[in-house]
Amino acid sequence: MANQLPRVGIYGLTGCAGDQLTIINCEDEILALFGAADIRSFVMAKSDNTEDEMDVAFVEGSVSTEEDLSMLKDIRKRSKILIAIGGCASCGGPQSGRALEKNWKDRIKQVYGNTKFEIPDAKEHQPLSAHVKVDGVIPGCPIDKGEFLRAVSRIVNGDMPIAYKYPVCVECKYNENECLLLKGIPCIGPLTAAGCDSVCVNHNIPCVGCRGPVIEANVASEYKLLLEKKFSKEDIVNRAMMFGGVKMAELLENLKGAKK
Ligand code: SF4
Ligand code: SF4
Repeated sequence: MANQLPRVGIYGLTGCAGDQLTIINCEDEILALFGAADIRSFVMAKSDNTEDEMDVAFVEGSVSTEEDLSMLKDIRKRSKILIAIGGCASCGGPQSGRALEKNWKDRIKQVYGNTKFEIPDAKEHQPLSAHVKVDGVIPGCPIDKGEFLRAVSRIVNGDMPIAYKYPVCVECKYNENECLLLKGIPCIGPLTAAGCDSVCVNHNIPCVGCRGPVIEANVASEYKLLLEKKFSKEDIVNRAMMFGGVKMAELLENLKGAKK
């Protein structure tokens, strides 16, 4: 990428487009961004899009239809680096909040009855990594603008976005917060990937896990602790699944008694 601007594509699969909007909302930096990278495809921001070889593809949303899947495979095939942006792309996010129940077809029927869909190939929501190799992740629901810009800067200079391998609790300690769990407030910071500087807890608001599960999240310990604090199984599971997606469902599945 040294002599020419990196060719970049920004894409959205099924999702709310909040991550792409966050990028567009980089009002003070967007010109610098377009100056530092050759943005070849970004349908929310420009109309002259070119779908060819990319150095970097940023992909938002989950794989929720066959069309999503073929689009993702095509992007992967022609991109050197693929970065999942946002909760849905990185872990399934809120879209797969009921993944633990494994009854997607029944749930669809409960909500929509026998409605004939215009998108007949809808399927259970999955993160990108369930289908293709993902080189890096920018988590969050939505992503943080500063984190995105830092990630772009790192990638342009031949590096990868920072992968936070420790939980929000670590940042919470750096910020000298009193632990909310000790006050009986259900916080799922121990299960959640850091990188937000524990912003919610700094304002006395419990973490709800919007950055998705941290690697090696100790779900068993958090589950036991919240049960001891008299929270119901259902409440604990619902909190963990609010943003935890398919990855949190896998962790909970291995936990005896956590299923409702
Ligand atoms: S308040 Fe939440 S994030 Fe902070 S140390 Fe306690 S459990 Fe962890
Ligand atoms: S503290 Fe938790 S809910 Fe708040 S921004 Fe950080 S990860 Fe998200």
